[in-house]
Amino acid sequence: MNFNKVTPAIVQKLIDAIGADGVVTDAETLRPFASDYTEDLVFMPEVAVLPRTTEQVQALLRIATEHNVPVTPRAGGTGLSGGALPILGGILLSCHRMNQILEIDRENLIGVVEPGVITQVFQEAVEKVGLFYPPDPASRGSCTLGGNVAENAGGPRAVKYGVTKDYVMGVEAVLADGSLIRTGGKLYKDVSGYNLTQLLVGSEGTLAIITKIFFKLLPWPPHRKVLLAPFHSIEEAARAVVAVFMKGVSPSACELMERDAVQCAVRQLGKEWPHSEAAAHLLLEADGHSLERVDEEAMLMGEACMEVGAEDVLIADDERRMREIWSLRRSIGEAVKSINIYKEEDTVVPRSKIPELISGVKAIAAKYNLMTICYGHAGDGNIHCNIIKTVDDETWENVLPTAIVEIFEHTKSLGGQLSGEHGVGFVQKEYLPITQGAVEIGLMKKIKSQFDPMGILNPMKIFPAEV
Ligand SMILES: Cc1cc2nc3c(=O)[nH]c(=O)nc-3n(C[C@H](O)[C@H](O)[C@H](O)COP(=O)(O)OP(=O)(O)OC[C@H]3O[C@@H](n4cnc5c(N)ncnc54)[C@H](O)[C@@H]3O)c2cc1C
Repeated sequence: MNFNKVTPAIVQKLIDAIGADGVVTDAETLRPFASDYTEDLVFMPEVAVLPRTTEQVQALLRIATEHNVPVTPRAGGTGLSGGALPILGGILLSCHRMNQILEIDRENLIGVVEPGVITQVFQEAVEKVGLFYPPDPASRGSCTLGGNVAENAGGPRAVKYGVTKDYVMGVEAVLADGSLIRTGGKLYKDVSGYNLTQLLVGSEGTLAIITKIFFKLLPWPPHRKVLLAPFHSIEEAARAVVAVFMKGVSPSACELMERDAVQCAVRQLGKEWPHSEAAAHLLLEADGHSLERVDEEAMLMGEACMEVGAEDVLIADDERRMREIWSLRRSIGEAVKSINIYKEEDTVVPRSKIPELISGVKAIAAKYNLMTICYGHAGDGNIHCNIIKTVDDETWENVLPTAIVEIFEHTKSLGGQLSGEHGVGFVQKEYLPITQGAVEIGLMKKIKSQFDPMGILNPMKIFPAEV
């Protein structure tokens, strides 16, 4: 990849197109754009540009194409696979100022937004008019809808409601050469040609810059109950997940947390927690429009847990207690981060394979004297396996890549994949050939070259160097 550096003449063109207040070149102001939430990686862009309109995004990309300069899109910067890191410098395109909710169409149950809207801000805006946008990544207070679409983000509610792709009805996007495309829109049915909308969902900023999104909305489900069940073993908790679904219920969350995950979250929150010595906890939620049905589903879920051997089942239906239980789950990510350097693998397997996944990951880590903390969206088979650094720097550098390869090979042997929701980005790209064939990767690269022939959009992402 032979790209050009950003010269003062290119910066001047960017200022002419976007305005001086939207172009950043000094090192101190550029620094926040050099990292996201992925480990401790830092890559400085040469310039950061903050457009306000689609036309400005088009102008920026025409300049980048003319001068053969790489462009890295960035939204909330909460990504966990390094997708927003400007690995080769170049132009960092921040969607921060494209943050307007353009329309909430109640009759058609559709919301239209710019990509920089914070996910929680959108959720609260639609809730105010009795509507519901279900995708709820645990980072929803700081990630954006554009980043969610680019990563096809999930979250706890995916088990009942699906992931971001299930709500994207259309997008407006700018291609690498500055041309504008519009796909889908307010139509609930549309088979007029290839489904370009869904091709862009999860494309991690490598195919186009998304500038507008049409989201499907649902009526707000007013009733909710949260259950927390401690178990004597991870195996039992995982069996309870299968048992819950066999009851014919549809939990709106089904999260598994192993002991170390609960204990580090409890320490982070500075609170006492009953049963924090239990080997694993399941957090379950029932929601819906009928109170009777929500009560019935909660009861059936509790029954399933007790039948498999739960130590207890705590049920909460008041807002304060439900928030408290959720705060335990939501704080695990930050709590794990505060222990030591770590590497998170976002493994996903068929639901019934969770016990084998976790025991295999622990055996691999133990072989290299590493610690793991596992938790996540058990209802979807999507378990975040965090490998914590418990050895010296040199050993860590030497053994980590081998341990990761073994973990992914183990995941593949269970019918799994290397990422359920965080994407491939920069940090997983070399592992992609473990679970994807050469033909599939070759096809993906051909699609990329049709959208972006010069390869200026988010280079060094998704594809391994040698394939
Ligand atoms: C504490 C914590 C909890 C998390 N929990 C979850 C979870 O439950 N579920 C989950 O799925 N993820 C989770 N994540 C990961 C992360 O929040 C998601 O991947 C999120 O979708 C990233 O959004 P962002 O706005 O921060 O995007 P960024 O990190 O800024 O960017 C993500 C990717 O999108 C691309 N991109 C950004 N904007 C555009 C655009 N306009 N057009 C094209 N490409 C674009 C970037 O180039 C990059 O590849 C969590 C992260 C943290 C730190």
